[in-house]
Amino acid sequence: MALTEQPASVSNQPPPLEGYNLFLENRPLVEALEREGGGWAHEQASALGERLGGEPLRWGALANEYPPALRTHDRYGARIDEVEFHPSWHELMRLGVEAGLTGLGWTGEPGGHVARAAMFMTVGQVEAGVGCPLSMTHAAVPALRASLELASEWEPRLTSRAYDPGLRPAAEKVGALCGMAMTERQGGSDVRANETVARPAGDGEATLHGHKWFCSAPMSDAFLVLAQAPAGLSCYLLPRVLPDGERNGFHIERLKDKLGNRSNASAEIELDGAWAQLVGEEGRGVQTIIEMVNQTLGSADAASGRGGDAPRRPSLGVRPAADRATTDAERAGGSVHRVGGGNADSNAPRARV
Ligand SMILES: Cc1cc2nc3c(=O)[nH]c(=O)nc-3n(C[C@H](O)[C@H](O)[C@H](O)COP(=O)(O)OP(=O)(O)OC[C@H]3O[C@@H](n4cnc5c(N)ncnc54)[C@H](O)[C@@H]3O)c2cc1C
Repeated sequence: MALTEQPASVSNQPPPLEGYNLFLENRPLVEALEREGGGWAHEQASALGERLGGEPLRWGALANEYPPALRTHDRYGARIDEVEFHPSWHELMRLGVEAGLTGLGWTGEPGGHVARAAMFMTVGQVEAGVGCPLSMTHAAVPALRASLELASEWEPRLTSRAYDPGLRPAAEKVGALCGMAMTERQGGSDVRANETVARPAGDGEATLHGHKWFCSAPMSDAFLVLAQAPAGLSCYLLPRVLPDGERNGFHIERLKDKLGNRSNASAEIELDGAWAQLVGEEGRGVQTIIEMVNQTLGSADAASGRGGDAPRRPSLGVRPAADRATTDAERAGGSVHRVGGGNADSNAPRARV
């Protein structure tokens, strides 16, 4: 006989917070979209919010429960430097790319950045880790424009609404992701102390030699990398796979064991003669890559990303307070004070603190 008896059903717990429109329930965001010139995207944002309130909530949980794993070698011992993600991560990435979170800001349409920011925040309620590669891919565009030839080759892939994961030559892909590799062990945010070296090979090409201490989304198709060239710190575009299909000299040493942002991989990497192309002017790497930094850490996405899950957090907190009986009188069905102003039948997402 079992020592403890399992209850047949669980009582006095709120129902799961799901099955609602994550955009429409966020009234300040709905108003801001209209006010700031993105009203034309209301229907799209609403459709996204509706979708996110369903199965993607589960994907968000799974992508964090099964964090990415590094696969340095294949079963035959060949170096592959790949990161394996749970399928839920890929579903969330697909959803974000298809919603235009990497491209919508650069179509030239007035309010494009506003529309993108509203949807970026809405996705953030479900899962924040995917915000990193989505944001960096979006942000790479203005930095790449410092070299028009590279921009004309890469921009259509980075802004594409097709999610196309897997390491293959970029020319074979309909969509691509881009990361950034700036910081090193000895300097951190002081990138002037960087030691990674660029050895120019003519025509703006170079090989990169050194390490990076914190390189997020290492499964991206390309990276903007800071390296010391003869004229000073410079910005380079480094593809993970070379045009002939060979893997570039980009080795993942280990993944960071992070407290947050766990669904997303961040890596320590070694650049072993990696082939790269100069972006912008040699010696003006910070001025070039700052265009990317501004779009990620410096401004829009850092703010809207952090604000992303704000509407859902209070709702998750208020829901038990609004829906659980806490006194004998409540348990007996009487009318008693509830925190958050709700009652047992209320739709908790509407409750705000
Ligand atoms: C989740 C995550 C993902 C990341 N992804 C990437 C990535 O994809 N690519 C990449 O290149 N890097 C990435 N980084 C690294 C990130 O850019 C660095 O952590 C950041 O630049 C700070 O560097 P540091 O941690 O070495 O701290 P330090 O630079 O050592 O700073 C330590 C403290 O000193 C303060 N400080 C530093 N300089 C000054 C100053 N001049 N004046 C006043 N205060 C100062 C800082 O604010 C901080 O509080 C990531 C970091 C995290 C946590």
